[in-house]
Amino acid sequence: MLSLLKLNLMKKIVVLVVSLFILLNSGFAQAKINVVVIGAHPDDCDNDAGGTAILFAKAGHNVLFVSVTNGDAGHHEKGGGALAKIRIDEAQEAGKRFGVKYMVLDHHDGELMPTLDIRLEIIRIIRRWNADLVIGPRPNDYHPDHRNTAVLIQDAAYLVIVPNIAPDTPPLKRNPVFLYTEDGFQKPTPFEPDIAVDITPVFDQKIYAMAAHESQFFEWLPWTSGKLDQVPKTEAERLKWLAEWRNQGINDKVKESLTKWYGPGKSNQAKYAEAFEICEYGRRPSDEEIRKLFPFFD
Ligand SMILES: [Zn+2]
Repeated sequence: MLSLLKLNLMKKIVVLVVSLFILLNSGFAQAKINVVVIGAHPDDCDNDAGGTAILFAKAGHNVLFVSVTNGDAGHHEKGGGALAKIRIDEAQEAGKRFGVKYMVLDHHDGELMPTLDIRLEIIRIIRRWNADLVIGPRPNDYHPDHRNTAVLIQDAAYLVIVPNIAPDTPPLKRNPVFLYTEDGFQKPTPFEPDIAVDITPVFDQKIYAMAAHESQFFEWLPWTSGKLDQVPKTEAERLKWLAEWRNQGINDKVKESLTKWYGPGKSNQAKYAEAFEICEYGRRPSDEEIRKLFPFFD
């Protein structure tokens, strides 16, 4: 009788230990990674880091998109507050499709300056999100809003840990890793893809989410490039058209980076990628830390 009781107890202990082991090895035990992507306009984060954001969100991590301007200049027929309202609504819909929270700050489009007030606003947002990773544009770009957004982000790096700056919001304990999104500008230095993410499995979802910015991808941007008359009418045709338009292929440097992070076999299968350059003003991560920050490499 006693040995039977002992046996039952032993069984219970084994079940408990196995359950604990499974739990610790599941996502439950893995710390959440907090990512803030910052763009100048509602649709910039989407275009530059949308696939990567989906991968983070699908794995249960926390992603915030921030548009520093309200997009109230981005149209040929609409403008002002009415356009800002349209773009805020589009950003909210895009956020749902990406699986991220989308914040649109109320600064005029086309007039963004890297002021102290906006720098403090960015610092507070990065702190409140408890960011591990902050992603944004490089300061070399054709659009002054993109350049000034980059300056604002660079100026927030480091100051996010300084308690006497914006003392109403507790500082971060350590400087996040700051990353630049890919661009094609060559001067003063071309973009270096230190990190490349294979977004092939989520490319269709990225396009679907981007398509929420109807006023941009099917009205304003085609108008600026003289192809408004080519925009298809049905949703299915529009998604296909947007996918073709946004497919920039994978250049040699990005391919090299994909091979570094995924190995030659997997990188050869990648059709779509997003690449990032490490900003020298944030924390400088080792390769090992990058693998922890991008847990989908393996
Ligand atoms: Zn933009």
